[in-house]
Amino acid sequence: MHDVVIVGAGPVGGTLALAIADADLDVVALDARPEGQTLRRDRSLALSHGARLIFERLGVWCHLVATPGAVTAIETIDISQAGGFGVARLTAEEQGLPALGYVVSYLALQDAIDHMLVRTRTVVRYDCAVARVGGTPGYAAIEPEGADRDPLLARLAVVADGTGALVSGVTRERRDYGQSAVLAKIDMREPHRGVAYERFTPLGPVALLPEAQHYSLVWTMTPEEAERTLALPDDAFLDQLARRFGARVEGFAGVRDRKAFPLALEYARPATATRTVLVGNASQALHPVAGQGFNLGVRDAFELAQAINACPQEALGDPAMLARFAARRRVDRAAGIAFTHGLTQVFAHDFAWLAWPRGLALTLLDALPPVKKAFTRAMLFGLS
Ligand SMILES: Cc1cc2nc3c(=O)[nH]c(=O)nc-3n(C[C@H](O)[C@H](O)[C@H](O)COP(=O)(O)OP(=O)(O)OC[C@H]3O[C@@H](n4cnc5c(N)ncnc54)[C@H](O)[C@@H]3O)c2cc1C
Repeated sequence: MHDVVIVGAGPVGGTLALAIADADLDVVALDARPEGQTLRRDRSLALSHGARLIFERLGVWCHLVATPGAVTAIETIDISQAGGFGVARLTAEEQGLPALGYVVSYLALQDAIDHMLVRTRTVVRYDCAVARVGGTPGYAAIEPEGADRDPLLARLAVVADGTGALVSGVTRERRDYGQSAVLAKIDMREPHRGVAYERFTPLGPVALLPEAQHYSLVWTMTPEEAERTLALPDDAFLDQLARRFGARVEGFAGVRDRKAFPLALEYARPATATRTVLVGNASQALHPVAGQGFNLGVRDAFELAQAINACPQEALGDPAMLARFAARRRVDRAAGIAFTHGLTQVFAHDFAWLAWPRGLALTLLDALPPVKKAFTRAMLFGLS
């Protein structure tokens, strides 16, 4: 029997594998993707300063920053609402940090994690899709797809496959926002200087994240509008975008790589099952409005690693260990879900009566240093 089997060696499962690599444990990671590849197209991940510190400790960061264009620092975040007063500007300088966060290429991050994983004793089996994870009081059974593959048994199964759907005994709550996110790369006439923009509009939030020489756009709208927007000629697309930002951001010059995906809040309840823990998007998939989802996943992985490293081998995956881990993650997880969901409700609706309190909240956030500091710290490091 293995000590730990990790299902999904993506950014979150791979982070966990690295963080427990020095423990004297028999760890196996399984991933459906072929070695050296991902099943996903590239996407821009919003990484907090707290996540950077974790990747630094694991040796991933230095490999990542050596890849040209893979990491872009966010030095300022400018938050505003269309059609109302109130602007908040958060800066790295005020927080005494090198950056408020980073925009990172998914493919480059995966490559850096894979690069570090080959230096560990951890066995990673690629081309190995798992069909089902089930638990008994004594062990977890991980069943790979394909009749010729035997199940693996483990004291603890960690599911980091991005969906969590293959775990039996876990209910998944889903709230469809009835919205889609349009993603694209936006070229600007002037350099972005590390400024990110979050703009709340009656039709949904729009974010511009500085990345390499362009902006990475996350623009929420109804699925019908998303379909129409994807089909617009470049000039019309940029014109619509400029209208959303008004005078707040100007100088849009070009658009590339458009795509859209439906938005939903989805989370496992609970995020543990017999001999099994879910982490990352398998545990919770959030609306991208506040860039919290991936960072929450990285913290899941890092805190689970601490729990595993501190646990006697024979107690791995037992009910007491799982309960301690769930209790430890409860506040950060619930706050990440509630904060992100709350933002979508407060800022995404076109209720005129909300414009004034929203403006007041942004003004207070900007004007009161202790509030600003607490808010920024929660965004950067989570609430646990
Ligand atoms: C369409 C989409 C767009 C997104 N865009 C953004 C964005 O712009 N910015 C942002 O910050 N976040 C974005 N996110 C969220 C971000 O991608 C996730 O937070 C992050 O990828 C979570 O990492 P993970 O390791 O938990 O899961 P994943 O990245 O999904 O990795 C899961 C891993 O498990 C493997 N796997 C899957 N199924 C199996 C199986 N059955 N058996 C074995 N292995 C398996 C996969 O090959 C993969 O390596 C987006 C999410 C989606 C779905």
